[in-house]
Amino acid sequence: MLDKYTAIDSGGVNPYPRTWSEFLARFPTEEACLTYLEALRWPQGFVCPRCAVASSPSRVSRGRLLCKDCGHQSTVTAGTIFDKTRTPLRVWLAGAWYVTNQKLGVSALGLQRVLGLGGYQTAWTMLHRFRKAMVRLDRERLGGLVEVDETYLAITDREAPISKAKRKNNTSKVLIAIAVEVHEPKGFGRIRLQRVDSDADVCVVPFVEANIEPGSVVRTDGSAAYRSLTQRGYTHQRTVMLGSDVPAHVSMVGVHRVASLVKRWILGTHHGAVQPGHLDAYLDEFVFRFNRRTSGSRGLLFYRLLQQAVITDPLTYNDVVSRQPVVANSE
Ligand SMILES: [Zn+2]
Repeated sequence: MLDKYTAIDSGGVNPYPRTWSEFLARFPTEEACLTYLEALRWPQGFVCPRCAVASSPSRVSRGRLLCKDCGHQSTVTAGTIFDKTRTPLRVWLAGAWYVTNQKLGVSALGLQRVLGLGGYQTAWTMLHRFRKAMVRLDRERLGGLVEVDETYLAITDREAPISKAKRKNNTSKVLIAIAVEVHEPKGFGRIRLQRVDSDADVCVVPFVEANIEPGSVVRTDGSAAYRSLTQRGYTHQRTVMLGSDVPAHVSMVGVHRVASLVKRWILGTHHGAVQPGHLDAYLDEFVFRFNRRTSGSRGLLFYRLLQQAVITDPLTYNDVVSRQPVVANSE
Protein backbone atom coordinates (compact mmCIF):
# COMPACT_ATOMS: atom_id res chain seq x y z
CA MET A 1 0.00 0.00 0.00
CA LEU A 2 2.86 2.35 0.75
CA ASP A 3 3.95 2.42 -2.87
CA LYS A 4 0.46 3.44 -3.85
CA TYR A 5 0.59 6.37 -1.44
CA THR A 6 3.95 7.57 -2.60
CA ALA A 7 3.30 6.98 -6.30
CA ILE A 8 2.33 10.59 -6.92
CA ASP A 9 5.61 12.06 -5.79
CA SER A 10 7.79 9.39 -7.29
CA GLY A 11 9.90 10.30 -10.29
CA GLY A 12 8.44 10.01 -13.74
CA VAL A 13 4.82 10.34 -12.74
CA ASN A 14 3.34 13.78 -13.18
CA PRO A 15 1.65 14.75 -9.91
CA TYR A 16 -1.28 16.27 -11.77
CA PRO A 17 -3.05 15.98 -15.12
CA ARG A 18 -2.11 18.66 -17.62
CA THR A 19 -5.12 18.46 -19.89
CA TRP A 20 -8.77 17.45 -19.65
CA SER A 21 -8.07 14.21 -21.51
CA GLU A 22 -5.27 13.41 -19.04
CA PHE A 23 -7.75 14.20 -16.26
CA LEU A 24 -10.27 11.71 -17.66
CA ALA A 25 -7.61 9.04 -18.08
CA ARG A 26 -6.33 9.60 -14.56
CA PHE A 27 -9.66 9.64 -12.73
CA PRO A 28 -11.87 7.02 -14.40
CA THR A 29 -13.36 5.77 -11.09
CA GLU A 30 -14.11 6.77 -7.50
CA GLU A 31 -11.24 4.47 -6.43
CA ALA A 32 -8.79 6.43 -8.56
CA CYS A 33 -9.96 9.67 -6.92
CA LEU A 34 -9.70 8.16 -3.43
CA THR A 35 -6.18 6.91 -4.09
CA TYR A 36 -5.15 10.32 -5.37
CA LEU A 37 -6.57 12.16 -2.35
CA GLU A 38 -5.03 9.62 0.04
CA ALA A 39 -1.63 10.23 -1.52
CA LEU A 40 -2.12 13.99 -1.13
CA ARG A 41 -3.27 13.77 2.48
CA TRP A 42 -0.69 11.22 3.58
CA PRO A 43 2.35 11.78 1.33
CA GLN A 44 4.58 9.78 3.73
CA GLY A 45 1.99 6.99 4.07
CA PHE A 46 -1.13 6.66 6.19
CA VAL A 47 -1.17 8.24 9.65
CA CYS A 48 -4.13 7.38 11.86
CA PRO A 49 -6.09 10.56 12.66
CA ARG A 50 -6.90 9.20 16.14
CA CYS A 51 -3.74 7.57 17.49
CA ALA A 52 -1.30 9.27 15.08
CA VAL A 53 0.50 5.99 14.44
CA ALA A 54 1.93 5.68 10.95
CA SER A 55 1.23 2.21 9.66
CA SER A 56 -0.31 0.50 6.69
CA PRO A 57 -4.07 0.36 7.33
CA SER A 58 -6.45 -2.34 6.19
CA ARG A 59 -9.09 -1.31 3.75
CA VAL A 60 -12.46 -2.14 5.27
CA SER A 61 -14.47 -0.97 2.33
CA ARG A 62 -13.84 1.21 -0.69
CA GLY A 63 -13.16 4.38 1.27
CA ARG A 64 -12.74 3.11 4.85
CA LEU A 65 -9.31 2.55 6.32
CA LEU A 66 -8.84 0.59 9.54
CA CYS A 67 -5.93 1.50 11.82
CA LYS A 68 -4.22 -1.73 12.89
CA ASP A 69 -3.03 -0.12 16.11
CA CYS A 70 -6.19 1.34 17.63
CA GLY A 71 -8.94 -0.06 15.45
CA HIS A 72 -10.17 3.40 14.43
CA GLN A 73 -11.88 3.58 11.07
CA SER A 74 -11.34 6.69 8.98
CA THR A 75 -11.71 7.93 5.46
CA VAL A 76 -9.54 10.32 3.50
CA THR A 77 -12.44 12.76 3.28
CA ALA A 78 -13.31 12.86 7.02
CA GLY A 79 -12.41 16.20 8.57
CA THR A 80 -11.72 17.84 5.20
CA ILE A 81 -13.78 20.02 2.87
CA PHE A 82 -15.11 16.74 1.36
CA ASP A 83 -16.49 15.64 4.75
CA LYS A 84 -19.82 13.78 4.57
CA THR A 85 -20.36 14.74 0.97
CA ARG A 86 -22.88 12.81 -1.08
CA THR A 87 -21.42 14.16 -4.29
CA PRO A 88 -19.09 11.63 -5.98
CA LEU A 89 -15.39 12.46 -5.71
CA ARG A 90 -15.11 12.39 -9.50
CA VAL A 91 -17.53 15.32 -9.58
CA TRP A 92 -15.56 17.12 -6.85
CA LEU A 93 -12.30 16.66 -8.74
CA ALA A 94 -13.92 17.76 -11.99
CA GLY A 95 -15.19 20.80 -10.06
CA ALA A 96 -11.68 21.57 -8.80
CA TRP A 97 -10.37 21.19 -12.35
CA TYR A 98 -12.99 23.53 -13.76
CA VAL A 99 -12.58 26.14 -11.02
CA THR A 100 -8.80 26.28 -11.46
CA ASN A 101 -8.87 26.17 -15.26
CA GLN A 102 -11.25 29.05 -15.86
CA LYS A 103 -9.19 32.19 -15.98
CA LEU A 104 -11.91 34.22 -14.29
CA GLY A 105 -13.39 31.48 -12.15
CA VAL A 106 -16.94 30.34 -12.30
CA SER A 107 -20.31 31.17 -10.77
CA ALA A 108 -22.31 28.57 -8.85
CA LEU A 109 -24.81 28.43 -11.71
CA GLY A 110 -22.01 27.89 -14.22
CA LEU A 111 -20.54 25.11 -12.09
CA GLN A 112 -23.94 23.48 -11.64
CA ARG A 113 -24.40 23.43 -15.42
CA VAL A 114 -20.97 22.17 -16.38
CA LEU A 115 -20.98 19.39 -13.75
CA GLY A 116 -24.62 18.51 -14.33
CA LEU A 117 -25.35 18.89 -10.61
CA GLY A 118 -28.93 18.36 -9.49
CA GLY A 119 -29.09 21.42 -7.27
CA TYR A 120 -27.77 24.96 -7.25
CA GLN A 121 -27.10 24.61 -3.51
CA THR A 122 -24.66 21.73 -4.14
CA ALA A 123 -22.66 23.83 -6.60
CA TRP A 124 -22.76 26.86 -4.33
CA THR A 125 -21.55 24.90 -1.29
CA MET A 126 -18.81 23.25 -3.37
CA LEU A 127 -17.50 26.63 -4.48
CA HIS A 128 -17.49 27.95 -0.93
CA ARG A 129 -15.57 24.90 0.29
CA PHE A 130 -12.97 25.37 -2.44
CA ARG A 131 -12.69 29.05 -1.51
CA LYS A 132 -11.99 28.05 2.07
CA ALA A 133 -9.16 25.80 0.88
CA MET A 134 -7.78 28.61 -1.29
CA VAL A 135 -7.21 31.08 1.53
CA ARG A 136 -4.85 28.83 3.47
CA LEU A 137 -2.41 28.93 0.60
CA ASP A 138 -1.74 32.60 1.01
CA ARG A 139 -0.48 32.97 4.52
CA GLU A 140 2.90 34.52 3.87
CA ARG A 141 2.65 38.28 4.18
CA LEU A 142 3.44 40.65 1.35
CA GLY A 143 6.79 42.44 1.30
CA GLY A 144 9.00 44.85 -0.58
CA LEU A 145 7.14 47.90 -1.87
CA VAL A 146 3.41 47.54 -1.21
CA GLU A 147 0.65 49.94 -2.23
CA VAL A 148 -2.39 50.07 0.07
CA ASP A 149 -5.72 51.76 -0.56
CA GLU A 150 -9.46 51.25 -0.15
CA THR A 151 -12.20 51.16 -2.74
CA TYR A 152 -15.96 50.64 -2.85
CA LEU A 153 -17.48 47.61 -4.54
CA ALA A 154 -21.12 47.70 -5.59
CA ILE A 155 -22.68 44.32 -4.97
CA THR A 156 -26.24 43.11 -5.29
CA ASP A 157 -27.70 40.90 -2.60
CA ARG A 158 -30.17 38.79 -4.58
CA GLU A 159 -31.11 36.74 -1.55
CA ALA A 160 -31.97 39.69 0.63
CA PRO A 161 -35.63 40.01 1.47
CA ILE A 162 -36.94 42.49 -1.02
CA SER A 163 -39.99 44.51 -0.17
CA LYS A 164 -41.99 46.04 -3.00
CA ALA A 165 -40.65 49.45 -2.23
CA LYS A 166 -37.03 48.20 -2.28
CA ARG A 167 -37.33 45.88 -5.27
CA LYS A 168 -34.77 47.68 -7.39
CA ASN A 169 -32.72 48.76 -4.46
CA ASN A 170 -30.79 45.95 -2.79
CA THR A 171 -27.38 47.04 -4.07
CA SER A 172 -24.83 47.82 -1.38
CA LYS A 173 -21.57 49.64 -1.51
CA VAL A 174 -19.00 47.68 0.45
CA LEU A 175 -15.58 49.03 1.27
CA ILE A 176 -12.57 46.77 0.67
CA ALA A 177 -8.91 47.27 1.46
CA ILE A 178 -6.37 46.41 -1.23
CA ALA A 179 -2.65 45.70 -0.90
CA VAL A 180 -0.47 45.16 -3.96
CA GLU A 181 3.26 44.36 -4.19
CA VAL A 182 4.72 46.73 -6.74
CA HIS A 183 7.84 45.80 -8.66
CA GLU A 184 10.11 48.52 -9.96
CA PRO A 185 10.32 49.66 -12.69
CA LYS A 186 7.05 47.93 -13.53
CA GLY A 187 4.86 44.92 -12.81
CA PHE A 188 3.02 43.59 -9.79
CA GLY A 189 3.64 40.75 -7.35
CA ARG A 190 1.06 39.33 -4.99
CA ILE A 191 -2.05 40.97 -3.61
CA ARG A 192 -4.38 40.84 -0.60
CA LEU A 193 -8.01 41.94 -0.41
CA GLN A 194 -10.31 42.23 2.57
CA ARG A 195 -13.61 43.83 3.42
CA VAL A 196 -13.24 46.64 5.98
CA ASP A 197 -15.94 48.47 7.90
CA SER A 198 -14.51 51.92 7.24
CA ASP A 199 -11.41 53.77 6.07
CA ALA A 200 -10.50 54.74 9.64
CA ASP A 201 -7.18 53.71 11.16
CA VAL A 202 -8.83 51.08 13.41
CA CYS A 203 -9.85 49.23 10.22
CA VAL A 204 -6.99 49.79 7.80
CA VAL A 205 -4.01 49.46 10.16
CA PRO A 206 -4.96 45.89 11.26
CA PHE A 207 -5.32 45.05 7.57
CA VAL A 208 -1.76 46.26 6.92
CA GLU A 209 -0.35 44.41 9.93
CA ALA A 210 -2.11 41.16 9.06
CA ASN A 211 -1.02 41.22 5.43
CA ILE A 212 2.30 43.03 5.12
CA GLU A 213 5.64 42.05 6.64
CA PRO A 214 7.09 44.73 8.97
CA GLY A 215 10.10 46.39 7.38
CA SER A 216 8.29 46.71 4.06
CA VAL A 217 7.72 49.98 2.30
CA VAL A 218 4.02 50.83 2.42
CA ARG A 219 2.76 53.42 -0.04
CA THR A 220 -0.61 55.01 0.68
CA ASP A 221 -2.48 58.15 -0.26
CA GLY A 222 -2.45 61.15 2.07
CA SER A 223 -5.05 59.68 4.45
CA ALA A 224 -4.30 60.26 8.13
CA ALA A 225 -5.53 56.73 8.87
CA TYR A 226 -2.10 55.36 7.95
CA ARG A 227 -0.18 57.79 10.15
CA SER A 228 0.94 55.18 12.67
CA LEU A 229 2.62 52.86 10.16
CA THR A 230 6.10 54.28 10.76
CA GLN A 231 5.98 53.57 14.49
CA ARG A 232 4.71 50.06 13.68
CA GLY A 233 7.88 49.20 11.82
CA TYR A 234 7.00 50.09 8.25
CA THR A 235 8.59 52.62 5.95
CA HIS A 236 5.63 54.78 5.07
CA GLN A 237 5.46 56.61 1.74
CA ARG A 238 2.58 59.01 1.37
CA THR A 239 1.54 60.08 -2.08
CA VAL A 240 -0.35 63.28 -1.43
CA MET A 241 -2.94 63.76 -4.13
CA LEU A 242 -4.35 67.06 -2.98
CA GLY A 243 -3.28 69.85 -5.31
CA SER A 244 -1.07 67.44 -7.23
CA ASP A 245 -1.01 67.36 -11.01
CA VAL A 246 -0.50 63.61 -10.95
CA PRO A 247 -3.84 61.75 -11.02
CA ALA A 248 -4.40 58.92 -8.56
CA HIS A 249 -4.25 56.16 -11.17
CA VAL A 250 -0.70 57.21 -12.03
CA SER A 251 0.75 57.52 -8.54
CA MET A 252 -0.99 54.40 -7.14
CA VAL A 253 -1.00 52.31 -10.25
CA GLY A 254 -1.11 48.89 -8.52
CA VAL A 255 -4.17 49.35 -6.35
CA HIS A 256 -6.09 51.07 -9.13
CA ARG A 257 -5.36 48.27 -11.55
CA VAL A 258 -6.39 45.60 -9.04
CA ALA A 259 -9.51 47.53 -8.00
CA SER A 260 -10.73 47.66 -11.59
CA LEU A 261 -10.01 43.94 -12.10
CA VAL A 262 -11.95 43.00 -8.95
CA LYS A 263 -14.90 45.16 -10.00
CA ARG A 264 -14.89 43.60 -13.45
CA TRP A 265 -14.71 40.10 -11.96
CA ILE A 266 -17.61 40.67 -9.56
CA LEU A 267 -19.71 42.15 -12.38
CA GLY A 268 -18.65 39.66 -15.04
CA THR A 269 -18.31 36.19 -13.51
CA HIS A 270 -20.81 36.84 -10.72
CA HIS A 271 -23.05 39.42 -12.39
CA GLY A 272 -22.59 41.67 -9.37
CA ALA A 273 -24.59 39.27 -7.24
CA VAL A 274 -22.64 38.56 -4.06
CA GLN A 275 -24.14 38.55 -0.60
CA PRO A 276 -22.21 41.07 1.50
CA GLY A 277 -21.60 38.46 4.22
CA HIS A 278 -19.82 36.23 1.70
CA LEU A 279 -17.73 38.87 0.01
CA ASP A 280 -14.52 37.90 1.82
CA ALA A 281 -14.75 34.36 0.44
CA TYR A 282 -15.06 35.72 -3.09
CA LEU A 283 -12.12 38.05 -2.48
CA ASP A 284 -10.05 35.06 -1.27
CA GLU A 285 -10.78 33.29 -4.54
CA PHE A 286 -9.77 36.35 -6.54
CA VAL A 287 -6.51 36.61 -4.59
CA PHE A 288 -5.74 32.90 -5.07
CA ARG A 289 -6.19 33.24 -8.81
CA PHE A 290 -4.39 36.57 -9.15
CA ASN A 291 -1.37 35.44 -7.14
CA ARG A 292 -1.00 32.44 -9.43
CA ARG A 293 -1.69 34.23 -12.71
CA THR A 294 1.81 33.59 -14.02
CA SER A 295 1.75 29.87 -13.17
CA GLY A 296 2.60 28.06 -16.37
CA SER A 297 0.32 25.16 -15.59
CA ARG A 298 -3.34 25.19 -14.69
CA GLY A 299 -2.88 21.59 -13.60
CA LEU A 300 -0.52 22.81 -10.89
CA LEU A 301 -3.29 25.04 -9.51
CA PHE A 302 -5.61 22.05 -9.45
CA TYR A 303 -2.96 20.07 -7.57
CA ARG A 304 -2.31 22.85 -5.02
CA LEU A 305 -6.02 23.34 -4.41
CA LEU A 306 -6.57 19.62 -3.72
CA GLN A 307 -3.44 19.41 -1.56
CA GLN A 308 -4.97 22.14 0.56
CA ALA A 309 -8.50 20.73 0.38
CA VAL A 310 -7.52 17.49 2.15
CA ILE A 311 -6.14 19.39 5.14
CA THR A 312 -8.81 22.11 5.36
CA ASP A 313 -11.56 21.71 7.95
CA PRO A 314 -15.06 20.97 6.77
CA LEU A 315 -17.52 23.73 6.01
CA THR A 316 -21.20 22.93 5.93
CA TYR A 317 -23.93 24.64 3.99
CA ASN A 318 -25.26 25.93 7.31
CA ASP A 319 -21.86 27.34 8.26
CA VAL A 320 -21.89 29.35 5.07
CA VAL A 321 -25.46 30.63 5.16
CA SER A 322 -25.33 31.51 8.85
CA ARG A 323 -22.57 34.08 8.36
CA GLN A 324 -24.04 37.41 9.24
CA PRO A 325 -23.75 39.89 6.45
CA VAL A 326 -22.23 43.20 7.45
CA VAL A 327 -23.68 45.79 5.13
CA ALA A 328 -22.20 49.21 4.70
CA ASN A 329 -24.26 52.17 3.66
CA SER A 330 -26.99 50.95 1.30
CA GLU A 331 -27.81 53.13 -1.62
ZN1 LIG B 1 -5.08 4.46 15.18
